[in-house]
Amino acid sequence: MGRLLLVSLPATGAIIYRCKHCDTHLAYDTDIIARTFRCKNGKAYLFNRIVNVNVGSKDDRMMTTGLHTVCDIFCVACGAILGWKYLVAFDKSQRYKEGKFILDRSTALAARGDAAHAHAHADHAHHHHHHARVTSSADDDDPSDDEDDQHM
Ligand SMILES: [Zn+2]
Repeated sequence: MGRLLLVSLPATGAIIYRCKHCDTHLAYDTDIIARTFRCKNGKAYLFNRIVNVNVGSKDDRMMTTGLHTVCDIFCVACGAILGWKYLVAFDKSQRYKEGKFILDRSTALAARGDAAHAHAHADHAHHHHHHARVTSSADDDDPSDDEDDQHM
């Protein structure tokens, strides 16, 4: 029963977010609904769909936009906590988040899902190889003075 069936997201030209710890595919940037969320580690994005995650137990959490029932999500390959999934939003205006996923940006790496670079390894810290791994630093500076969710 311990066999892992990892979903590999096909290269579409979209940026693919991967687990920072084990490089498992998680989501396409085309599935991002909003980039304005926050978690305790900083930026977090709301995704329509995330693959290769296990969900934890249900938990009611008070957030800046009200009470939500959520469950944490974990990488199926390495068990790292990646964010959470919204199950229920008690405030009607927040219902669009139900069934959607928050990915903590500090737990994920972004890279173009280009087949030629599919094997580029995640340890980019100390080698700058000539095949350019495209990271998403460009989209990382949106001003977020709006009030999105935050763990309290
Ligand atoms: Zn992982």
